[in-house]
Amino acid sequence: MATRKKPAAKKCPDSKGDGETTETVQVGTRKRRDTDHRQAALCLSCFGTGEATD
Ligand SMILES: [Zn+2]
Repeated sequence: MATRKKPAAKKCPDSKGDGETTETVQVGTRKRRDTDHRQAALCLSCFGTGEATD
């Protein structure tokens, strides 16, 4: 990851400009069994804009 080239545009590196990321769903603590369920989530790095906030 650290060796990735800088994007041509100021796209969010986390969501790659999509504004959303696929995160592993983790509700609360590990009380429940771990799940591999993934879903698209609003990218917290760009807040869904898909643009780098830097
Ligand atoms: Zn993003």
